Amino acid sequence: MAVRVSYGALSNGISGQLVEVQAHLSNGLPGMTIVGLPDTAISESRDRVRSAIGNSGFNWPTGRITVGLSPAFEHKRGSGLDLAIAVAVLASAESIPPSIAQGPVYLGELGLDGSVRSVPGAVTTALSVARDKPGTKVFGCPETISQIALVPGIKPIPVTNLADAIRVLTGESKPERIQPLPDVSTYSATGLEEVIGQRLACRSMEVAAAGGHHILLSGPPGVGKTMLARGLPALLPPLSDQQALEVCALRDASVTTRTGIDRRPPFVSPHHSTTLVAMVGGSLGGMLRPGQVSLAHHGVLFLDEAPEFSRGALEALRQPLESGSVHVARAAFVERVPAEFQLVIAANPCPCGDSGGMSCQCSPNEIRRYQQRISGPLLDRIDMHIRVGSPVGSTPGDRSEDVRNRVQQARERSAARLAPINSLLNSRVPGEQLRKRFPPDESAVKIMEDWRHNNQLGLRALDRILRLAWTISDLAGVDRPGEVELIEAAAMRQDRALVRS
Ligand SMILES: [Zn+2]
Repeated sequence: MAVRVSYGALSNGISGQLVEVQAHLSNGLPGMTIVGLPDTAISESRDRVRSAIGNSGFNWPTGRITVGLSPAFEHKRGSGLDLAIAVAVLASAESIPPSIAQGPVYLGELGLDGSVRSVPGAVTTALSVARDKPGTKVFGCPETISQIALVPGIKPIPVTNLADAIRVLTGESKPERIQPLPDVSTYSATGLEEVIGQRLACRSMEVAAAGGHHILLSGPPGVGKTMLARGLPALLPPLSDQQALEVCALRDASVTTRTGIDRRPPFVSPHHSTTLVAMVGGSLGGMLRPGQVSLAHHGVLFLDEAPEFSRGALEALRQPLESGSVHVARAAFVERVPAEFQLVIAANPCPCGDSGGMSCQCSPNEIRRYQQRISGPLLDRIDMHIRVGSPVGSTPGDRSEDVRNRVQQARERSAARLAPINSLLNSRVPGEQLRKRFPPDESAVKIMEDWRHNNQLGLRALDRILRLAWTISDLAGVDRPGEVELIEAAAMRQDRALVRS
């Protein structure tokens, strides 16, 4: 008899893979073999599929069934191929027309009673199906389908059990309605409102949010650095559908149940004991686990007391800061995992935190070693270096919602201007493009030339100031940065602010 085909898909933790399931029914002793590097869960699928088929009103085919999973050289894990295997087996016995069986992609584990169950990593697998087999129908349990309803380029179809799936497949019944997950994005009520007497620092956070600039906050403990950092996500515009899906896919590995779509930018704040592997991600039991940098994708990565982090963990940030992704090694090859985050670093001026104060007994050497833990190349990638001193007065920061609206408008201005170079944020504009296509006005050009010729600032430092100046003028609704914007930008770039306090 002929070989019959269906399609399933599996997740490795952070990306999905389409799997072709072939079933061949031949004469011989009844039995079923699964080949193509299945793990124990897939091998056991033999028994689940057999019971599910029997309990769904179909006869188990008489003869020997061989199921091949392709690509055969890749290890396959989990129970997510059950439904695809059941469909291929039914097609091999001609219990359903083989031609209609091979069109869709089937996601889901089968219960012995034939019920279709959800599997982890649904969003990642759906995104891979959309990429590799666009326009395809995707069958899954209602819960899975709710999660992937937003994925563009696929046609999700909810089915509760195997018999239901076959009826929908043969056109005997119509699929149920999709229940999309509710939007659960509620911005936290606390943003900069809670930060008292830090007008300049609050302003810096607004500029950082508007331009997506990485920021270093240095200052003694207790002045509000952590509160400023924690307030940042509330200033950022909500994520788009695509961004929310990407974030969801990366969290899939660690969170299995979800109640809704969250459009708030993530805020990730690892402890300073975080290891290099936990920071960039790695492989665990054959599954990939995204690191902190990837969990902060499209959001904020906050390192409190940054000099306390290991050198390795800090240096590992350089690659994602540069390219927006990290490479995570797997057994045979390296996987690129998205990690485009906004970095906020907080640091005390010395190990005891009271540099210059009465109680500080740190020696100059200790202070220097402490500050050098954040390397020059890493500091170089941080646009804004802000000193946070003791609070002055009792004015609280602006309402987060108001700031967010201003940030949104500024981002719309920059996105419109930067569209020709495929960029959205000022902080991501390459230096060469910046100088050639986006110079400031004449008065500001003159100041920059002065700074350059007096050897006060190098080219890269000037680029960073100019990027900031563009963000400041976007916030002010000014067409092009001038003197005012440039001077404010330079003040937000107190070079190596960490060093002296
Ligand atoms: Zn000290």
